Amino acid sequence: MVAPHVSVVLPAHNEREVIAGAIDEVFAALAAAGHAAEVIVVDDGSTDGTDAAVEALIAQRPTLRLIRLARNFGKESALAAGLDAAQGAYVALLDADLQDPPQEMVAMLATAERGHDVVYGVRRSRRSGWLRWLGYRVFYRLLRLVSDLPMPLDSGDFSVLSRRAVDALNRLPERNRFLRGLRSWVGFRQCGHLYDRPARRAGATKYSLRSLWNLAVLGFLSCGRRPLAAAFFVGLAVVLAGLVAAVVGAAAVLVAVLVLGGVQLVAVGILGAYLARVLDQVEGRPCYLVERTVNCAAPAPR
Ligand code: UDP
Ligand code: MG
Repeated sequence: MVAPHVSVVLPAHNEREVIAGAIDEVFAALAAAGHAAEVIVVDDGSTDGTDAAVEALIAQRPTLRLIRLARNFGKESALAAGLDAAQGAYVALLDADLQDPPQEMVAMLATAERGHDVVYGVRRSRRSGWLRWLGYRVFYRLLRLVSDLPMPLDSGDFSVLSRRAVDALNRLPERNRFLRGLRSWVGFRQCGHLYDRPARRAGATKYSLRSLWNLAVLGFLSCGRRPLAAAFFVGLAVVLAGLVAAVVGAAAVLVAVLVLGGVQLVAVGILGAYLARVLDQVEGRPCYLVERTVNCAAPAPR
C-alpha cells in the first residue's frame, strides 16, 4: 500500500446524520485540489449506527477506513487512534460535523506544503450560545496564562500536521492527552490559519458543559506546572496578610480561619488534580482500545 499524500481523521461519536456528508465533502475538496487522500473515521463508541453508515460507503470508497473503539473514550483518545493509524505525508484533523470546513483544510494543507509542520485553525468567529462563547474565551486566555507553552488563542483541534510532527506526537507516552497542548509542545514550524467557524451541520453537540469543564481541567493540568506554583504564592500572600493583621492587632480570628482554610483546600485540590494525572500514567492503561477496523490495520495504542 503506498502512503497517501493526505490522511484525514474524523473522530465521530453518534454522528450518523452528518458523517456521510462530511466524508463526501472531504473527498471532494481534496480531489478538486488534486490530492490522493485517505479518510479515517474513528467511531468513538457510537450507539446510533455511525459505524454501519461508514462501512456501507467503503465499497465505493477504496481509501475510506473505519476504526471503531471499544467504547466512548472521548475525542482526545479518538484523535490519538486516528493519528496512530494515519499513513499520509500530511494528516488533517477535522470534526465530523463539518464545523471545520474542508475548504479551509485544503488551504491549510497548502501552507503546510510550503514547509510548516503544524497549521492550526484559529477561530475568527464561532457560532454558539453566549455561555459557551464566554467559557471558550475565558478558557483559552486562562490556558495561556497557566501554560508554560506558547498556546495559541482560540484554536481547537482543527489542524494539518506534517509527518514529522505526527511521528513526534505518536511517540509521546502520555495517556491523558490534550492534543492542543501536545501539538504546541512538539514545536517545529507552527502557523495559524484564520477561519470562520460555521454552526454544526446537523445533530447536537457531544460536549456537555460538564465534559467541557473536564476538558478545561485536562488542558490546565497538561500544559504546565504553574497552577502548583500559584497555590504556593497565594498561600504565601495569605500568610503575609495574616502577619500584617497580627501586627495591627486585628482580632479577626474568624476571617483568618476562613481564608487560611480556603487557601489550604484550594492548594490541596490542585495537588489532588495533579496526583490523579500521575495515577493515570502509573496505572498504564492505554488511552483507547479498538473493537474492530474496516479497510485499515488496527492501530496500537500507547
Ligand atoms: N467526539 C468524539 N467523542 C466524544 C465527543 C465528541 O469523537 O466523546 C467528536 C464529535 O463526533 C465531533 C467532534 O468530536 O466530530 C467535536 O464534537 P462536537 O461537535 O460535539 O463538539 P463542539 O463542536 O460542540 O465543541
Ligand atoms: Mg462541533
